Amino acid sequence: MGMDALLELDGISVRYGPVEAVRQVSLQVFPGEVITLIGANGAGKTSILRAVSRLIPLAGGTIHYSGDDVARIPAHLLPQKGLVHVPEGRIIFGTLSVQENLDLAAWWRRDDDQVQSDFADVFGMFPRLAERRKQLGGTLSGGEQQMLALSRAIMARPRIMLMDEPSMGLAPIFVKSIFAAIQRINQAGTAILLVEQNAHMALSIASRAYVLQTGRIIMSGDAEDLRNDRDIQAAYLG
Ligand code: ATP
Repeated sequence: MGMDALLELDGISVRYGPVEAVRQVSLQVFPGEVITLIGANGAGKTSILRAVSRLIPLAGGTIHYSGDDVARIPAHLLPQKGLVHVPEGRIIFGTLSVQENLDLAAWWRRDDDQVQSDFADVFGMFPRLAERRKQLGGTLSGGEQQMLALSRAIMARPRIMLMDEPSMGLAPIFVKSIFAAIQRINQAGTAILLVEQNAHMALSIASRAYVLQTGRIIMSGDAEDLRNDRDIQAAYLG
C-alpha cells in the first residue's frame, strides 16, 4: 500500500488458562480504512480488540500503533493518543446525563471551539440524543445507549476506533443509523476496526475483511470479494 499501517498485529496469541483463544493472528489497518473482522461466536474477535487496548495480556506476538509498541503505552493513555475502544454492551455512565457523558469523554481536550463543534456534529448525527441531552444515560433505550457510546468515542477524536458488535441486540432501525454513523465517522478520517456478527452490514461498509475461525484467520481480502465468495456466503451471510 506504500504507507505505514496505523495498527499492526503481528502473530498475536491470547490464552485463557488452557484455552488458546487467539492464535498467531496478523492484521493491519491503514489510516482511514474500515476493516471488519467476522467470525462465529467464540472465534476470538472480542479477545483481539481487548488485546489491542491492553485490557488483556498477549501470550505472544506484537501490536504496533502508529509505529509504537502498544505494550509500552499505558492502557489509560491510548484514547488520548487516538486509539479508542467501543466495547460490546454500550458502556456508558448510567447515573450521568447524556451531556455529562459526552463532557467526560472529551475532558482532556484543550481545543474548546472544536469540542463545541463536535458536540453539534454528534447531536446532528443523533437527533434522539439531542432531545435527551439532560436524560440520565441509564434510562435510555438500548439503541440510544449505543448511540451515546459511539458519540463518546467520537468526542475523543480518535485516529482509530475499535468497535465491538455495535449492532448487537438492536432493532433494525437503530442498526441502520449506527452503521450510517460509522460511515460518517470514517469519512471524517477515523480508521475503523469493526467486529461484527452482522457480516452482511459489516462487509457492506468495509474495504477489507478478515475471517476468524477458532482463533485463526482463515481468509482475508477485499470486502466485496468476500461478500461474493460462496463459502463465506454459506457460513456467514446465511
Ligand atoms: P462472541 O462473538 O461470542 O463475543 P468472540 O469471537 O468475540 O465471540 P471471544 O469473546 O474473544 O470470541 O472468545 C474467544 C474464546 O475465548 C471463547 O472460547 C471464549 O469462551 C474464551 N474466553 C473469552 N474470555 C474468556 C475468559 N475471561 N476466560 C476464559 N475464557 C475466555
